[in-house]
Amino acid sequence: MQYTPPLFRPPSEANSLILQATLGCSWNNCTYCHMYRSKQFSIRPLDELLDELQTAARQYGHRIEKIFVADGDALIMPVSHWVPLLREMRKLFPKLRQVSCYAMASNVNEKSPLELETLRAEGLNLLYMGPESGDEVTLRQLAKQPRPKGASREEDYLFDAHVEAAAKTRAAGMKLSAIFLLGAGGIERTVEHAQGSAKLATAMNPHFLAALTLTVVPDTPLAKTAENLGWELPDVYGLLEELKVLVGQAKPTRALFRTNHASNYLPLGGTLPRDGAKMVELIDLALAGAIPLRDEDLRGL
Ligand code: SF4
Repeated sequence: MQYTPPLFRPPSEANSLILQATLGCSWNNCTYCHMYRSKQFSIRPLDELLDELQTAARQYGHRIEKIFVADGDALIMPVSHWVPLLREMRKLFPKLRQVSCYAMASNVNEKSPLELETLRAEGLNLLYMGPESGDEVTLRQLAKQPRPKGASREEDYLFDAHVEAAAKTRAAGMKLSAIFLLGAGGIERTVEHAQGSAKLATAMNPHFLAALTLTVVPDTPLAKTAENLGWELPDVYGLLEELKVLVGQAKPTRALFRTNHASNYLPLGGTLPRDGAKMVELIDLALAGAIPLRDEDLRGL
């Protein structure tokens, strides 16, 4: 396979074949994100991608069960680009059971229900979507995605865009993984961010739910805000309090919850809402020092 670094994938895709069908992120504007700042967004030519799939199939076609399509918001590819790729994947990898990609809410909302159903029928069955926060003020500060057409400044349009995208994803029969970012509201909006995130996690009703922890990366707009305007990340105890609110208040129908990303201080796992109270107890133990936290040196982005 041919990769243009940097290359990112969710922790749960560690054993997947990665097809880098797009380079970078079409939005590339979130204030905290450094991931693709060095890359100009583009969609790679279909013939190149089909060639790569054929090469991968010759090497380990009988072993591949999962494919992750990179980079940052690969769902933006037109259906006419996706369908030949998905068909080739099904043809070449007999054991394939999952194809996934990152998606912004706007990527989903710009596709029609029929287009999403077509993608699902052709094999795309899991989307990773990162609203990061359910607090509208925080979402706008993060510049999470473009303002939907027609939305007024007064509306909770970013919150609503994620609820709409989640509903469309589920209606198309795809699984949805929603990702929230502890610390995204800074100290100033820590309560609103945690409560809003629990509310949005409930409203999105994903199959999988994850929390990551924000790191302020040098040279991002957020780093400049921190330097010039005094924006501050909550300390580790503040971050754990946010996690407590998220697991205690989020009430999806049934979502597998994980904090297994390397950025987190406390790895947790369970099913929400069933295990919410149990996880709150574990966080209280960690806050009291009875459960060790991940060492700062071992944390990663
Ligand atoms: S949508 Fe994702 S990849 Fe793109 S800028 Fe925002 S956080 Fe980064």
